[in-house]
Amino acid sequence: MPKPTVAIVGRPNVGKSTLFNKIIGERRSIVEDTPGVTRDRIYAEAEWCGKKFLLIDTGGIEPKSEDTILKQMRNQAEIAIATANVIVFMCDVRAGLVADDRDIAIMLKKSGKPIIPIINKVDRVGELPYEFYEFYELGFEREPIAVSSLHGTGSGDLLDAILEECDFPDDTADDEGVINVAVIGKPNAGKSSIINRMCAEERVIVSDVAGTTRDAVDTRVENEYGVYNFIDTAGIRRQAKVEDRIEKFSVIRANMAVERADVCLLMIDAGDGVTEQDERIAGLAHEAGKACIIVINKWDSIDKDNSTTNSYNKKVRTALSYMPYAPIIYVSALTGQRVMGIYELINKVYEQSRKRISTGTLNDLLNDATTRVQPPSDKGRRLKIYYMTQTSVAPPTFVIFCNSEELFHFSYRRYIENCLRDAFGFEGTPIRIIIRQKGDDSTRA
Ligand code: GDP
Ligand code: GDP
Repeated sequence: MPKPTVAIVGRPNVGKSTLFNKIIGERRSIVEDTPGVTRDRIYAEAEWCGKKFLLIDTGGIEPKSEDTILKQMRNQAEIAIATANVIVFMCDVRAGLVADDRDIAIMLKKSGKPIIPIINKVDRVGELPYEFYEFYELGFEREPIAVSSLHGTGSGDLLDAILEECDFPDDTADDEGVINVAVIGKPNAGKSSIINRMCAEERVIVSDVAGTTRDAVDTRVENEYGVYNFIDTAGIRRQAKVEDRIEKFSVIRANMAVERADVCLLMIDAGDGVTEQDERIAGLAHEAGKACIIVINKWDSIDKDNSTTNSYNKKVRTALSYMPYAPIIYVSALTGQRVMGIYELINKVYEQSRKRISTGTLNDLLNDATTRVQPPSDKGRRLKIYYMTQTSVAPPTFVIFCNSEELFHFSYRRYIENCLRDAFGFEGTPIRIIIRQKGDDSTRA
């Protein structure tokens, strides 16, 4: 059962992203540590009292340039209504109740979804300004909650309200050992064909598990390779439904599927090669730190000679240069060629993404690495690396303590990452390296 999804909706500048960042805490800053990735995330997993849910900041959805504010808000509200289980509607006490708030409130109420109205920028504790009471006029079932996203006040009440409104899966034990797989790719790459193939073996038991999010249906498969949960296959199987939605919605949907996945299958149409759209979709998996397999589909339709695979490999590696770790497999959903081989790769990259290396072993590696290639120096100061430890898995995340973050150049970080990969593999999974500056800075080269 998918985690519940909560969307924050509201006029621009009411403080949606401030609240989003407050609630998701450290996660965003870790994302920013990934080299080459600058795009803000609008999706993240949040946790309160041990319960996990997905949080969307609809304000982060890029408006079309010709959109008026009202149109943009309507668009965001529509997406929230279609995607989320619970909607947090944010207003701004400083601006008071304005016409656009009323307009969106009507739309939200019609949806029948649980709405939690929150009034932001109530910065002074214990003192509700007169304007706060205006918002009762919106007539939501729940009373407005006063918050200050800036100071974090009221967010506990908000999170409690979210927990009250969400249905949480209670069968978490049931999910142990199940690998969640998201099949992503542009339309017509062959996503539904591959899922049908992968689920079509005789020994396979296929069952649909209805999700909490409208239309999201997961397909669970048990076979000789293991137990797998293909995420959100409803949209894939009932294509017509997806097509009449706005394009942005399918991007969000892909985003959500990726967020829930352990492993992503990036489907590429062999005839088209890696397109810009493919690069963007692959970026979702990379940014989210998910293990990924590049599946080149429709291999049957390509004229081949001895060097075809080699030159194809090169092209894929160039286009998707930020994920050299992802294995490539050439398949045909049509003929079934190598399709079952995908399961072996899933198991492999899943395992690799959960591998833990002891601090002792890591520091041996660090000693070797710094002896072979001296850390950089600048203006008489040399980078000194104290130690390294692995703080989490999926993706494997390493924290390196050193004397100066500034001296830890990108190229040296890349070098350390390569050393980690040479030694431990981590095939199929991104790696995160977080640099922390610590202690005395007096070390002179
Ligand atoms: P969004 O467009 O709804 O995502 O709004 P932002 O999160 O970007 O915030 C808009 C502005 O409001 C920023 O300058 C924030 O610093 C400010 N802001 C957000 N929350 C609060 C708050 O609780 N109190 C005050 N005083 N300012 C806030
Ligand atoms: P989706 O939109 O990604 O789910 O793509 P579909 O699975 O619906 O496939 C799109 C089209 O590509 C259909 O006409 C399929 O028959 C065709 N197709 C899918 N896989 C293959 C393949 O391996 N080889 C060939 N030649 N065609 C394929």
